[in-house]
Amino acid sequence: MAFQEPQENQLHFLIIPLMSPGHYIPTIDMAKLLAQHGVRVTIVTTPVNSIRFGSILDQAIQSGLPIHFLEFPLQTEKFGLPEGCESLDEVPNMGLAKDLFLAHSSLQQEVEQYLENLNPKPNCILSGTFLLWSAETAKKFQIPRIIFDGMNCFTQVCNHVLYHTKVYESVGESESFVLPGLPDRIELKRSQLSFEFNPGSNDVTDFYEKLRVSESEAYGVVINSFQELEQGYADEYQKIKKDKVWCVGPLSLCYKDVSEKALRGNKLSINKTECLKWLDSQDNGSVIYACLGSISRVEPDQVVELALALESSKRPFIWVVRAGPKTPKIEKWIDEEGFEERTKDRALLIRGWAPQLLVLSHPAIGGFLTHCGWNSTLEGVCAGVPMVTWPQFQEQFYNEKLVVQVLRIGVSVGAQNVVHWGEEEKSGVGVKREELRKAIEMVMEEGKEGEERRKRAKELGNLAHKAIEEGGSSHQNMTRLIQDIRNQASTKTIS
Ligand code: UDP
Repeated sequence: MAFQEPQENQLHFLIIPLMSPGHYIPTIDMAKLLAQHGVRVTIVTTPVNSIRFGSILDQAIQSGLPIHFLEFPLQTEKFGLPEGCESLDEVPNMGLAKDLFLAHSSLQQEVEQYLENLNPKPNCILSGTFLLWSAETAKKFQIPRIIFDGMNCFTQVCNHVLYHTKVYESVGESESFVLPGLPDRIELKRSQLSFEFNPGSNDVTDFYEKLRVSESEAYGVVINSFQELEQGYADEYQKIKKDKVWCVGPLSLCYKDVSEKALRGNKLSINKTECLKWLDSQDNGSVIYACLGSISRVEPDQVVELALALESSKRPFIWVVRAGPKTPKIEKWIDEEGFEERTKDRALLIRGWAPQLLVLSHPAIGGFLTHCGWNSTLEGVCAGVPMVTWPQFQEQFYNEKLVVQVLRIGVSVGAQNVVHWGEEEKSGVGVKREELRKAIEMVMEEGKEGEERRKRAKELGNLAHKAIEEGGSSHQNMTRLIQDIRNQASTKTIS
C-alpha cells in the first residue's frame, strides 16, 4: 500500500530531529507511534540521515502509515564537513560539531519555504530542543512547538534544581553535594554535572540562555520514559511545565519483530543471523553486553582496561568496539595482544554498529555495561536486565544515579568525572580494569543481592511493556497529547 492522501481533519505534525543517533533514533520511533495513532507526520531530513535512520519506517509506510520524508540536501562542503557527514557521530573532531549545527541551521530557509507554500499549515512542530532555528520557524508560522531533548524527567528536574539553586557554585570540583528538594537524596560532584553546568573549556552561557528562552516559549515537552519508572520526578516535572509534559515511552518498544529491530540506527556491522546464532548458543542470563553508545570516544588506553576487565570476568561477553577516529589504535592492540584469539570461545566482538535492541532482548543477556545514555539505559530497563553503569558525559551521571540509587537495578564502576567530548585525552584512564571487573562481577553474581537486583529489573521491564500497551500510561499520554493539539487546532479554526 502506498502513502495515503491526507484525510480531512487529520492532524499533521512536522517533525525535525536533531542530527545525532541518540536523538534521531527515538524521534523516528515517535513518528511511527504518532502515525499509528492516526496523525499524519512529515519528517524533515537530509539524504544520508534519511537512509540511515529512516529505512526502519519503510515497512510501516508500505503498510499505509501516513509518514512522509521531506528531504533537503545538507551543504556539507560549504561548512567544511566531510562528504556524507550529517550526524554527530560522523564528525571527525569536536570542532566540526559546531559546523554541523550551522549546516543544519541552513535548512531553516528551505523548511520555511515549504511552510509558505503549504495550506493548511501543520498543527504542530515537534523538534529537537537544541534546534533553536526551529523555534523561530514555529513562532513565525504560529504553530505550537513541542520539544524533545532525549532526556528523562529525573534529569529535567535535576537540571531545574541546579539552575534555580546554583547549589554547585559553592563547592569544590570534586566535592559531593546534595541536590535540594528532590524525592530522593541525590548526591553529585561538580565534576559529574551535565554540559550546561560543567562545560569544560567551552563557553556555553549564551547558548543556554537562548535555549532557556526557547524552552519557555515551547508549547510542551515529550519525554521518552514512562511514568511508573520515575513517578515522583514525572509529577514534579509536570508541575514545573504546567501539565504540558507527555511521557510516551519507551519508544524502542514500537518494534516487535527481529528484522525491524536490526534495522534501527545504522547499517549493522554484524550479520543479524550470525549474531542471533551466537546468542542462541549461550546459556540464559549468562552474557554481559558492553556498549558505550554512538558518540562517546573513549581513549584507547581506557578501552583496553574495559577489554581486560571483560576477559577477567570469565563470563561470555559481547563487546562493541567503537571509538570514532581512534578505533584503529584499538584494533592494533587487539591484534598485537591476540585478544580475540584468546577470548574466542566466549566472546563476540562487534566492530562498529551493533543491533542493540536485538541483543538486549535476547534471553542470553544477563547484564548490560552501559555509558548511561538515556536511550541505552531505557532499552536496558525494557530488556529487564541489571546494568553496570559507566557514565561518560552530558547527563549520564544523573542517569547512573537513577539506575543505581533510585531504581536499584545497577552497579556503578565508580567513574568520578565527566569525560568532556573532544577532550578525552585529558581524562586518561579514569576507571581501572579491577573496578570494572568488580562491578561486572556484582551484577552477574548469583547471591541474594544479585538475585534481588535481577528481580527488580525484570519487574521494571514488565512495567515498561505495559506502559505502551493500549490503556497503559504512555499510550494514554500519547492520546492526551494528540487531543491537546487537536483542541489547539480547533480553537485556531474558530478564532
Ligand atoms: N546503538 C545501537 N548500536 C550501537 C550503538 C548504539 O543500536 O552499536 C543505539 C542504542 O540502541 C541507542 C542509541 O544508539 O538507541 C544511542 O543512544 P544513547 O542515548 O544511549 O547514547 P548516545 O549515543 O546518544 O550517547
